[in-house]
Amino acid sequence: MLETLRSLPKVQLHVHLEGTISPELLLELARRHGVDLGARRDVSPEELYRFNDFQEFLYLFREVCQALKEPEDYGVLAAGYAREAADEGVCYAEVFISPSVWTWFHRQIDVRAAVEAIRAAFDAERRRSGFEARLIADVTRNFGPARALKTIRMVEGLTDLGVIGIGLGGDERNFPARDFRDVFALARSFGLHTVAHAGEAQEAWSVRDALEIGAERIGHGCAAAADAEVVTMLAERNVCVEACPTSNELTGAWRKGEPHPLLALDAAGVPIAIDSDDPALFSTTLLAEYVRVAEMVGIGGVRRFARNAALHSFADDATKRAVIARIEAHAGADVAGERSRAENQ
Ligand SMILES: [Zn+2]
Repeated sequence: MLETLRSLPKVQLHVHLEGTISPELLLELARRHGVDLGARRDVSPEELYRFNDFQEFLYLFREVCQALKEPEDYGVLAAGYAREAADEGVCYAEVFISPSVWTWFHRQIDVRAAVEAIRAAFDAERRRSGFEARLIADVTRNFGPARALKTIRMVEGLTDLGVIGIGLGGDERNFPARDFRDVFALARSFGLHTVAHAGEAQEAWSVRDALEIGAERIGHGCAAAADAEVVTMLAERNVCVEACPTSNELTGAWRKGEPHPLLALDAAGVPIAIDSDDPALFSTTLLAEYVRVAEMVGIGGVRRFARNAALHSFADDATKRAVIARIEAHAGADVAGERSRAENQ
């Protein structure tokens, strides 16, 4: 199963670049930039990403942001992510970056230089393996709509580096999506795509809010499954939900032991894609998430979700067609392999 899923061509739609930092790179950057890792200072790389609750995770995320200080740090991070992604069968990715968080921790950082470093790393990986990536700039809810408008204007100047959209992440409860209607409208006027995290930490109303301001995809969306009207909205509008089971388990958006909400959403006709969110920090990979979901829905189900990810990406039509053709060829090869194995028995 693992090798079949590794060779399945995959499209990644929900991964935060900052959340792909390896423990080794975090320790190295923290040392270089004098970031105090507190109680984590003396632990081994294997223990660095163990946390007991969501608060501890937020502390860890803060340390990651403090350690990523210079534009070249982002280049090293992006190179590591892209190589690993390509090696586990990702052919196209839309990767979140959080420039408003970068400047919060490092007021002097040259955002354009950091994005140039990321672009250069992605281009190098494309030459090595054919891996393609675009960027989505997250406008963190917690900074409020006024700051988000400023971020959009800054992002507009980065489209030549492959920034194709904006995302809405962060505190769903205190900063509801409805407050960001003008932010999404401005982004669209610049030709940027708009996506939102919703229904991760709040109930289905938060997903409805995100849909009403025009989110083209929903990150997590777990809580939507409990509200038939919101499920219908997702299905009728054909809005893809990016399901990240390990993240959902660790943040409490999904209680392990219960069926993952992706199953009910899928049954209701909502397009589901599988993703990894902050894979390094959650000690997972996209491939591990595919394996996990394959245990729920079988290989045919994950292949369908892989196809959804390609269809609902913001890639051009030729790229989408090429990826979908590769996914279908993979299914054909799998069936042929099964048949020859059966004949040889
Ligand atoms: Zn996320």
